[in-house]
Amino acid sequence: KRRIGVMTSGGDSPGMNGAVRAVVRMSIYMGCEAYAIYEGYEGLVQGGDLIKEMKWEDVRGYLSRGGTLIGTARCMAFMERWGRLKAAKNMIHTGIDALVICGGDGSLTGADKFRSEWPGLLKELVDNGELTQAEIEPYKHLNIVGLVGSIDNDMSGTDATIGCYSSLERICSAVDDVFDTAASHQRGFVIEVMGRHCGWLALMASIATGADFVFIPEKPPRVGWEGQMCDIITKHRSRGKRRSIVIIAEGAHDMELKKITANQVKDLLSDRLKLDTRVTVLGHTQRGGTACSFDRWLSTLQGVEAVNAVLEATPETPTPVITIRENKIERSNLMEAVALTKSVTAAIKAKDFDKAMELRDVEFKE
Ligand code: ADP
Repeated sequence: KRRIGVMTSGGDSPGMNGAVRAVVRMSIYMGCEAYAIYEGYEGLVQGGDLIKEMKWEDVRGYLSRGGTLIGTARCMAFMERWGRLKAAKNMIHTGIDALVICGGDGSLTGADKFRSEWPGLLKELVDNGELTQAEIEPYKHLNIVGLVGSIDNDMSGTDATIGCYSSLERICSAVDDVFDTAASHQRGFVIEVMGRHCGWLALMASIATGADFVFIPEKPPRVGWEGQMCDIITKHRSRGKRRSIVIIAEGAHDMELKKITANQVKDLLSDRLKLDTRVTVLGHTQRGGTACSFDRWLSTLQGVEAVNAVLEATPETPTPVITIRENKIERSNLMEAVALTKSVTAAIKAKDFDKAMELRDVEFKE
């Protein structure tokens, strides 16, 4: 029987559990055995109790739960070759030759690297006398399939990452709550949401809540934005709006890449417009909580597709990542998606914001 490992890595996101459940059950359904690797790459490097077989019942109740029940970690050892050597040895000892990894672009890059090094790692383990030629024989090829788990929706080539809609829901309901109190006191609120290089959460939340102004990293406000923002808010107030809401992505900056902070925006509203203004940093509440219906659906369908991709892979197949495009679950080339994601960050760093916006919208073809 083939043994398929499943792991969550990097920042957690609602829906990761749904993905683990789908991979475990689909693996069993397809006649394979499923193994959970606990604590991300740490589990692979340490082995032992951190690699456990999962039966059908073991993932009962996983679908709606937030966070990741099999744990996640940042693992420095896996960044080093010795760590990946230990990981390869543990996999062979457990008999796992395929991994489904749900994580962000860092985790998926590590996975692809592991796969490309695989034959070399095995050879080194044999040369060191840690494994025998007979032991490595059945595990000549490593199959890796990526699932994108991230609340930021920051991966190119997919319309949505597992977790982003749950996070958006949470942000919207937090802004709704703030609206009520803001309107009662005619206050201004500056709300900071997550998103280091990606303004998706901030932009979507501002549309969904009817915010007055939004700051995102891909499209910084033009020079003189302070006056422009105050004019817009004054206009809205003059039409009878009783509360003012500004949403700011944590990675927001101006055209010169100088950080724009929530407090800076608050001071502008207080000093120039004399608005009683408060800052709310949503922080980790955006990550936690149950997965919304979309994320339960997405993680389930993508988990099933990941197992299909494992079973259909050949040594020549480039490492796939499971995506959703125009409502269809598809497979893309993982490293192409990662490269495209990195090019957005590079465009922002080079202050080429038109390019950054264009890349965010890019039609991605394999
Ligand atoms: P995310 O997956 O959310 O982008 P990180 O970038 O922190 O999060 O990556 C999570 C883990 O993936 C790291 O702690 C490390 O173990 C592994 N990893 C990331 N990048 C690489 C890489 N280039 N090579 C090997 N492992 C990596």
